[in-house]
Amino acid sequence: DRNISLPTIRQLDESAVNRIAAGEVIERPASAVKELVENALDAGARRITVDIADGGKTLIRVTDDGHGIAPMQMPLAVSRHATSKIDGSDLTNIHSFGFRGEALASLGAVGRLTLTSRTAGEEATSLTVTGGALGVCKPAALSSGTVMELRDLFYATPARLKFLRTDRAEMQAISDVIKRLAMAEPFVGFTLRDVSADAARVTFRADPQTGDLFDALHGRLATVLGKDFAENALPIDAERDGIGLTGYAALPTYSRGAAVAQFLFVNGRPVRDKLLLGALRGAYHDFLSRDRHPVAALFIDCPPELVDVNVHPAKSEVRFREPGMVRGLIVSALRHALANAGHRASTTVAD
Ligand code: ADP
Ligand code: MG
Repeated sequence: DRNISLPTIRQLDESAVNRIAAGEVIERPASAVKELVENALDAGARRITVDIADGGKTLIRVTDDGHGIAPMQMPLAVSRHATSKIDGSDLTNIHSFGFRGEALASLGAVGRLTLTSRTAGEEATSLTVTGGALGVCKPAALSSGTVMELRDLFYATPARLKFLRTDRAEMQAISDVIKRLAMAEPFVGFTLRDVSADAARVTFRADPQTGDLFDALHGRLATVLGKDFAENALPIDAERDGIGLTGYAALPTYSRGAAVAQFLFVNGRPVRDKLLLGALRGAYHDFLSRDRHPVAALFIDCPPELVDVNVHPAKSEVRFREPGMVRGLIVSALRHALANAGHRASTTVAD
């Protein structure tokens, strides 16, 4: 005779819902940086500056020169499921990084978020959200664009705070996020600064590139992956059944001892995808020994209806309607480029 009391079902309040949801979207400072920089890109920014203190644990500040947020819309920007990027009628046709309307609400739930923004023709305003509670909109001083300042990330969720790694490791993860987005957007300038008390310095900088996309990408890859990569990279440009593959893949002689320099993008979005990484490995199979790993930055462009980006809240995973076709395209385009390069190299030697 167990004595079970009947549980009561209750609706969680918005702040609890936000904290729970934030756990999925915001795992560590680098995920917050990703969301804020993607928002800046969606706002059409040409220059983005990211200031970090203490590995992002005490401060993440993203400054952009994008279109800004109108004063009336500030509270909506930090509300859950509120977005300017889709109207909900067509989830297959998404051209922005964001569309879930969750990031700012999540950040405001797990830290102290201050938005300061100015649109053309309106005064600058700022709004602070702390632990999910909205402050009041106040006039602010800002000439244009948006500044998103996130302080004391996870102060309200000490358990999550404990799982964070050293400031150095978190800064490294932030730097990786920025470098991936910098590869995806070669025409945008990026600056990453460490503004911790003991280290005020620029740790990464990529100036906006010019020219056509292929040249701009080459220049950007030289900045992010190094001149050596750019000099050893084969241009890739292929298309099959409406799916495009562009980018650069390094010669087998320029390989690495670990799979750390493989960058894949689907419709402009950095992704980590087993299928694509497997295809890359497969393409180099005959050209590399088993302990060596290719270096490449590859961009897949396909009609939005052939790929689902809404698999995971962080949108770093994708699902293709026809994975075999994508794999086949990568393997054949890269093998072709590598075989040609090998042929050229051997004729040069023979000469
Ligand atoms: P999503 O990006 O999915 O729309 P977010 O919570 O990240 O959701 O942002 C909510 C809204 O706030 C965006 O749709 C956008 O209109 C606005 N916003 C956020 N960041 C910026 C920014 N840096 N510049 C201009 N508008 C922004
Ligand atoms: Mg967003």
